[in-house]
Amino acid sequence: MRIAIIGGGAAGMIASIVAARNGAQVTVLEQLPRVGKKLLATGNGRCNITNINMGIEYFHGSNRDFAKTVIGRFNQKTTIEFFEDLGIHCVVESGGKIFPASGQASSVLDVLRFEMQQLGVVELCESRAETIAYGKKGFKIRVKGKDTITADKVILATGGKANPSLGANGSGYDLAKALGHKIIEPFPSLVKLKLDAPFLKSLSGAKINGEAAIEVDGKILRQENGEILFANYGLSGPPILQLSRTAGEQLSMGKKVNIVLDLFPEMSLQEFEELLEKRTSLRGDKPLAFSFVGLINKRFINVLLKEAGITDLHMPCRDITKSELKAIANKMKRWIMVISGTQSWSEAQVTAGGVDVSQINPDTMESKIVPGLYFAGEIIDIDGDCGGFNLQWAWSSGYIAGLSASIKK
Ligand SMILES: Cc1cc2nc3c(=O)[nH]c(=O)nc-3n(C[C@H](O)[C@H](O)[C@H](O)COP(=O)(O)OP(=O)(O)OC[C@H]3O[C@@H](n4cnc5c(N)ncnc54)[C@H](O)[C@@H]3O)c2cc1C
Repeated sequence: MRIAIIGGGAAGMIASIVAARNGAQVTVLEQLPRVGKKLLATGNGRCNITNINMGIEYFHGSNRDFAKTVIGRFNQKTTIEFFEDLGIHCVVESGGKIFPASGQASSVLDVLRFEMQQLGVVELCESRAETIAYGKKGFKIRVKGKDTITADKVILATGGKANPSLGANGSGYDLAKALGHKIIEPFPSLVKLKLDAPFLKSLSGAKINGEAAIEVDGKILRQENGEILFANYGLSGPPILQLSRTAGEQLSMGKKVNIVLDLFPEMSLQEFEELLEKRTSLRGDKPLAFSFVGLINKRFINVLLKEAGITDLHMPCRDITKSELKAIANKMKRWIMVISGTQSWSEAQVTAGGVDVSQINPDTMESKIVPGLYFAGEIIDIDGDCGGFNLQWAWSSGYIAGLSASIKK
């Protein structure tokens, strides 16, 4: 059985190992000079392989149940066993994130490539698949500037559109479309959010802890806690990246999307108002802005007071009215900003959208349209949260595609 895998990323590499272990002759076509370039950049160079807390709630797409079936067949435990067997000692970090004990993404790539070489997988780098034709005798893949490759089965593992400098540039969608597959419109996810606000310049580089929520039509759709980073374009930081999927999806539906920050999520609005009253009455002689020093990051004080409609930031605390104090408390507990967009593909960690799962069999990853064609990884309309879930999707879907493609019927 000759299997051609298009794309030498996480999904393509694991698929090649499984298929070759099953006796297939495997060729991996990779357009870049080396396989696994994106893998090297994962987890800030440490590769967050997977997460011990696996669950459907960490995955997104038009049909999450598809991910449930696939991950159920090759889950985080079998993934850890797979990598331990290759020599990666896995350690658990905060939030259940699994990393190699070496702390090096390159070690994950090294053991995958070693295994591929041991199994005789042929790596054809600088080989970009331009078209795929199929007929009774199998598949013919036209490779840019090189000989045509023939194969009995093809696995499309070209990734999505996120971070094109690391390989994936959306070319896989054209190949899938030409074979009759429907593409759910892709949009960037795990990406920074853009705001159109006058205070961004003065807050650029400032960080604050709190709760961030996405609000559309007055409803909170998702909220996350953690460190929020302000930049000249908008917001970044772990909670913002997690929220970006919901924001991007709503924006693509033409909705007005707000981000709402609560800088004191551990207190109710009433408790927070009481705290402010106490602070301002205890030292009534302090200038208003100065009375917030020690309560919040100094860089935010003037901005928040102005946003709350206070014009005299230096009045003695004792002169502040009840309604002004309420307005300040409200701003710090419900700071609403309008999201103007997400950053571009070059900033995104992952692609939301992709090949429609209704045309793929989740038990085998085989196309329901073209027999012998399989899909794996980010090219499919499934994406995950930060925390190892996107690589888990690549491992699970790649494993199943490699296994099913190599089974002789
Ligand atoms: C900076 C960054 C950090 C990340 N960190 C993590 C993390 O720690 N944990 C986590 O779970 N996820 C992380 N992710 C997401 C994760 O890396 C991806 O979801 C995953 O690598 C997708 O694997 P893939 O094999 O489907 O696609 P890719 O890794 O994108 O591989 C696809 C490959 O196909 C090749 N290709 C494309 N088109 C063609 C063609 N026509 N012909 C030949 N070759 C082609 C590309 O060059 C590429 O090498 C991160 C992503 C980024 C960008």
